[in-house]
Amino acid sequence: MAKLNSLVKKQKKSVLNRAIDFFFKSDYHTYLVGGYVRDNAMGIEPVDLDIVLEGDAIKAARQLNRNLKGDLQIYQVFGTATITVNNERIDLATARGEQYPNSARLPHVFPATIIHDLNRRDFTINAMAMSVSHHTFGEIFDPFNGLEDIRKGLIKVLHRNSFVDDPSRLLRAFRYKNRFDFKFEEKTRQFINEAVQIKLIDRLTGKRILNEINLIFDENDPGKIVRELSMYKFYPLSTKSIRIIERLSRDGRYYFVANIDYSKLPLSRSEKAIVQHFHKLDVIMKKLSKTQTKSSIFHILNDLEEPVRKAIVILQPKFELKFKIYRRLQKIKPFINGQDLKKIGLNEGPQFKKILSRIFDQQLDGKIKTRKQALDQIRLKA
Ligand code: ATP
Repeated sequence: MAKLNSLVKKQKKSVLNRAIDFFFKSDYHTYLVGGYVRDNAMGIEPVDLDIVLEGDAIKAARQLNRNLKGDLQIYQVFGTATITVNNERIDLATARGEQYPNSARLPHVFPATIIHDLNRRDFTINAMAMSVSHHTFGEIFDPFNGLEDIRKGLIKVLHRNSFVDDPSRLLRAFRYKNRFDFKFEEKTRQFINEAVQIKLIDRLTGKRILNEINLIFDENDPGKIVRELSMYKFYPLSTKSIRIIERLSRDGRYYFVANIDYSKLPLSRSEKAIVQHFHKLDVIMKKLSKTQTKSSIFHILNDLEEPVRKAIVILQPKFELKFKIYRRLQKIKPFINGQDLKKIGLNEGPQFKKILSRIFDQQLDGKIKTRKQALDQIRLKA
């Protein structure tokens, strides 16, 4: 049986390794699962730790956290817990053997619980477990030949109904394929094509779709994934849109969402604002090309969010000059504020904002050059 202890030992003494030490010394029957085992096998330093243990995961998490002193989150209903220490994350789950009646057919070294746990995972490369118990430390349990698929560079589902069981795996498949520069195994590719035809993804809640989209845009090269999603007609986009998303990289998520049916995605208010601005991009750019005064350049660009501003420069490099002006104007501090208006004797009210904005616009346009001129101007009209 393969052993990964040497790889584990090579890693620096991180929080994750302290957690592994804890379980090695404890009596818990513990396995590392998922990404940790996969990344270790690929020689990549894993970021998170996914632990399945036979026993009370919540109790174990409390004990471990006394040692790590991180932030402990308990999910009582699921029997799971998460510990976060300086951006490193440890997920602990209780394996529940009594629900799975197939134990008679299991190899005696690996209990039913871990087998079941791996059976419900997404891809062969994510369906491996490594023991961290002292008597079997480093032993890999790999019932679906995940190690071989890593060697071959394949993304492969465990069974034909995998995407039907959980359509979020479709998006996960594209994510892993691109992250590792793998290929889809032949049947898996077939299942994906079938899933696209029957629009399987629509069965997911908007929340889950959005979560997967966000994970795609957290990857190093989200544009590449979007290009492929489009190629598979998963989310067909124009070449121009793909190019913009590639250039925007992580911020491309908003442009992407603006280009698909996002009606059921639970976007936050600020995300919605960005997406809506992307919808009005042509109108905004027309306005920007007509405007000449510094104050209106400032307002048009200042009302937009950064990803939208970035997209404008990508689409129309000729706006670079207007952006330079905008960046200079951003540094300008208003000569006067509300306190000044009060001192002059004006009553506080909605007109305050109007006056301040009128004076500031004149300041941006160079019509008012000093604080004194600004105050004189107000006194004149007061
Ligand atoms: P990474 O975080 O590097 O993308 P990971 O493998 O740690 O990879 P997670 O999303 O944290 O990914 O999931 C942990 C493990 O849980 C996966 O490796 C996989 O085995 C399993 N898993 C996650 N989502 C699903 C799913 N939708 N269906 C089946 N198994 C899943």
